[in-house]
Amino acid sequence: MASLNREEVRSAERYVLTELPHEMLDIRSYDEYHINFSGGADSLAVAILMKYGYKVPSEKLRLVHMRVDGDPNDPSKRQLFDWPQTDAYLQYASKVLGIPLTVIWGEKNLEERIRERGKFPDKPCRFCTSYTKRDVYAKWVRQFDDCKILLLTGERSEESSDRASDPIFEHHSAHATLRKNRIVHWFRPIKHMLKYQVKQLAADYGIELHPCYQWVSRCSCRFCIFNTAAEMERVARLYPDDFDYLKQMERDLGHTMKSRKGKPLPLSAFINEDQIPLLV
Ligand code: SF4
Repeated sequence: MASLNREEVRSAERYVLTELPHEMLDIRSYDEYHINFSGGADSLAVAILMKYGYKVPSEKLRLVHMRVDGDPNDPSKRQLFDWPQTDAYLQYASKVLGIPLTVIWGEKNLEERIRERGKFPDKPCRFCTSYTKRDVYAKWVRQFDDCKILLLTGERSEESSDRASDPIFEHHSAHATLRKNRIVHWFRPIKHMLKYQVKQLAADYGIELHPCYQWVSRCSCRFCIFNTAAEMERVARLYPDDFDYLKQMERDLGHTMKSRKGKPLPLSAFINEDQIPLLV
């Protein structure tokens, strides 16, 4: 990465909060800083802000990525939801930021969880996030005893009313000071930032965004349950075999990923691929 000029350094400092939650330790006094790093622009902004804004030493920072498709070297796990470009992007981001990367996954991947449940996740029951991301991190972080950890995630108030109601600071479920002498504080340092600021921050530091932004507005699963029809159509065109596989999953499960007016809506109809009637 090219060395930073003075103007660029100031751009991260601009988003440093002047007042931090009083329950937090001093921002530079934790032993480990775990940046929940999806590879998206928000998680990248968190990393830039912690390194260049709050000036936490790089060796204490760690990018932690949860793979939704599980072990990439296990041939029994189809790589269906993670973008194929993500692994290389994570390496790039780790190198350009000078922050070490840790990639973790659960025993069962998202496809296995969906088949086990017999249904796709939806907004009220977002088991995809809990099984493949939240629970995976919560288990992994419990290996650290006698340690002060700050978990950093990239939710922003602008995204939705749900995100706006997230606290800026809380104790993580793995926080166990009495039995394990383990502090796990959870801080959301870019809650106040806007989408254009997040993207500008990456540009200011000369760091490229994940290539998926050419096709979708959020860097999430390729076939995210929240994709719009236009996004799903673009992904389906890029990965027709995987899209066919997903449609076959709908038939196997007798359940569709999408619905309209309370009725099941097959993926092919969702993207207007053909005139397949609604499942009943
Ligand atoms: S990106 Fe979408 S499908 Fe993937 S875990 Fe998150 S909500 Fe679920």
